Amino acid sequence: MKRALFTRILAITCAAMLCVTAMIAIPALASDSFVDRISVVATIYPPYDLSRAVTGGLADVAMLLPPGSESHSFEPTPRDILAIQDCDVFIYVGGESDDWINDMLDSLDMSAKQVVTLIDCVEAVEEEIVEGMEEEEEEEETEEGYFAREPEYDEHVWTSPRNASLIVDKITDALAAADPANADAYRANADAYQLELDALDAAFQEVVGSAERRTIVFGDRFPFRYLADAYGLEYYAAFPGCSTETEPSAATVKFLIDKIRAEDIPVVFHLELSNKKMAETISESTGAAVRLLHAAHNISKDDFEAGLTYLDIQRANVETLREALGEASE
Ligand SMILES: [Zn+2]
Repeated sequence: MKRALFTRILAITCAAMLCVTAMIAIPALASDSFVDRISVVATIYPPYDLSRAVTGGLADVAMLLPPGSESHSFEPTPRDILAIQDCDVFIYVGGESDDWINDMLDSLDMSAKQVVTLIDCVEAVEEEIVEGMEEEEEEEETEEGYFAREPEYDEHVWTSPRNASLIVDKITDALAAADPANADAYRANADAYQLELDALDAAFQEVVGSAERRTIVFGDRFPFRYLADAYGLEYYAAFPGCSTETEPSAATVKFLIDKIRAEDIPVVFHLELSNKKMAETISESTGAAVRLLHAAHNISKDDFEAGLTYLDIQRANVETLREALGEASE
């Protein structure tokens, strides 16, 4: 479906580009041709914010996903395609949700650009189905017929600060290659940022290391596999990370309620931009507090305008995890 959409968008975009050539004066997205600044385009919030940290205002950084919107159902506009075509550095996740981008890159000339895919910056793992989780029943249509889908790589690589560190390295290399005049400044910004990520990593380790328990429960989808793997957390959730399902079965809700009761877990988590319904239902039956663990797919419009950062989000996550995991008594 997205492929068909993309073909349509490409047709519109090519028409739009002819108009641009004819009229010359249409302003490009966030770039000023008289100022010698490179432009960076990121599809979603994490690479946008990490690029912002490394460029420190020396480059134009744009995010295609509108703040507050759902990242999994993002569909590019012709203007987005033009922004990618015009940029110097393009950064995207590279998972299943980005199939449209791979199709697009095949038809654009990207040879003069730096392209970074987050999933290739880290050791990617597949989405995991844990006990009690509802597996998405998806089938793939091919010329030979319908097949059950292969397991997909978990796209939420940025949820672990250790992965964020690897991603920052790759983004910094790309920026330095695209803009050698500012390479030293980018490297200095990246070095400072890596210290913040190290401190964040230490904070997660400290919370988990001194915790009463290792288990967290999500009345929601679970996009934190990389975070859980990094710090040795066990988790239960209704759906895997990028599931499109939102209505859990009664058995799934009961399983999560039983887990919370059996292990006396004080918090049930929900995700950002979620309707919280499932977490609230579980809370009503168990008394567990409903809390946000923010996976940073996207942030609200207000948070975007206020300049909320990945580090802000993760530091808040450290404190919410502290509440959920408790502190072991000596
Ligand atoms: Zn996701």
